[in-house]
Amino acid sequence: MCTRCLKLVGEPPDEVTERKVTKETLYTKNKSFSVSCSESIGKKGIVVYRNKFDSWLIDRAEAKGVEILEKSKVDSIKINGKVTVKLEGGKEFESNLLVGAWGASSYLHKFINVAPPKYYTSISQELKLPPGLVEERFNEPEIFWDGNITTNGYFWIFPRKEGVNIGYMEQTTKAKGIKEKFIKIIQNHPIISQKLKGSEEMKINGRSLFGHRIAENYLDRFHGDHFVLVGEAGGLINSLTGEGIYYALKSAELAASIISEGEYSEKSLGRYTELCYSELIDNDLKYSAKMAKMMFGHKPQFHDRIMDAMLELTEENGEIKKIMESMFSSVEYGQIYNPLMSKKGLLIRKLGLLGVMKMISR
Ligand SMILES: Cc1cc2nc3c(=O)[nH]c(=O)nc-3n(C[C@H](O)[C@H](O)[C@H](O)COP(=O)(O)OP(=O)(O)OC[C@H]3O[C@@H](n4cnc5c(N)ncnc54)[C@H](O)[C@@H]3O)c2cc1C
Repeated sequence: MCTRCLKLVGEPPDEVTERKVTKETLYTKNKSFSVSCSESIGKKGIVVYRNKFDSWLIDRAEAKGVEILEKSKVDSIKINGKVTVKLEGGKEFESNLLVGAWGASSYLHKFINVAPPKYYTSISQELKLPPGLVEERFNEPEIFWDGNITTNGYFWIFPRKEGVNIGYMEQTTKAKGIKEKFIKIIQNHPIISQKLKGSEEMKINGRSLFGHRIAENYLDRFHGDHFVLVGEAGGLINSLTGEGIYYALKSAELAASIISEGEYSEKSLGRYTELCYSELIDNDLKYSAKMAKMMFGHKPQFHDRIMDAMLELTEENGEIKKIMESMFSSVEYGQIYNPLMSKKGLLIRKLGLLGVMKMISR
């Protein structure tokens, strides 16, 4: 979880924080490089178990008077001058406003006539390691940009106190075959297989393996008559890194500032979409989406050449190193994309003019 999230919600207590993070190690097919967090930004962030972090947030919401209904699935929504939400089992609630915060699930969008964001499919697993091995082998999050694993993201290993969380994402809406591929990566990847040697699956609520959706990109608008969409329900996520917690928290804060005015017409709530653009998209998500388009979705061999070139330039050029440090220090992506583009001559030397054209003409 990045520094910007912590600025919004404060530092969770020690029992929620698994590990503090100040750098990440990046691996490509042929190289590896440790990127420290940008000095001006300070400590990068923390690793948490989401169930513990979310419980901490829920406790704070309850203390402010919010009523939480657990295990209550919304089955349908009707908006007709007012909002009616029906739960599985038939119980209904009425209100003047709907805040859609249902994440990357696309089931509920149809009730508000909004096309859901496209999504990636990801798989993750919790593993336990014998005492001492987490420190010996990891210490910091490790990111693998490897075209044989995925050309639309990365494989990650996030160290916790006694084990690691691992996973990767694919640009597909079909879960078929992902688990088998995941197991093969863990068993056969030359670095990953060694780092995970001796690990055992660790169960959380009876499961160790998890399938997820991750939204691909943001929607055009995040409001309508009597509703707003926050977080991944609006596709508010960094398309390059898959980080979405900050955007979920910040969009909720922006929505609250508009909702508190008490006007819920489509016109009044339009201010919320404007705020999402000015605060989250125009200087940030627009650029991470551009970078994801440039860097992802190529054939595996070209993907690996791009990623190798990026790491070589990080090693060779102080300015590129600073740009890469910013990329892992939760700054707005406009501050990364524009300086990076001003250095495209260096990338041309590595990939050739045609190669760079192939990236930026998409
Ligand atoms: C494996 C993985 C790792 C990630 N790592 C990071 C990371 O390191 N940093 C980062 O910033 N982001 C990360 N993300 C992204 C981040 O988790 C999300 O972007 C963020 O949680 C979005 O918040 P949200 O509130 O919009 O949605 P969510 O956190 O997904 O919450 C949506 C909630 O709505 C509920 N819901 C859905 N449908 C219904 C329904 N019909 N009825 C009732 N409830 C419903 C869901 O059960 C869920 O509780 C990761 C995502 C994945 C999948």
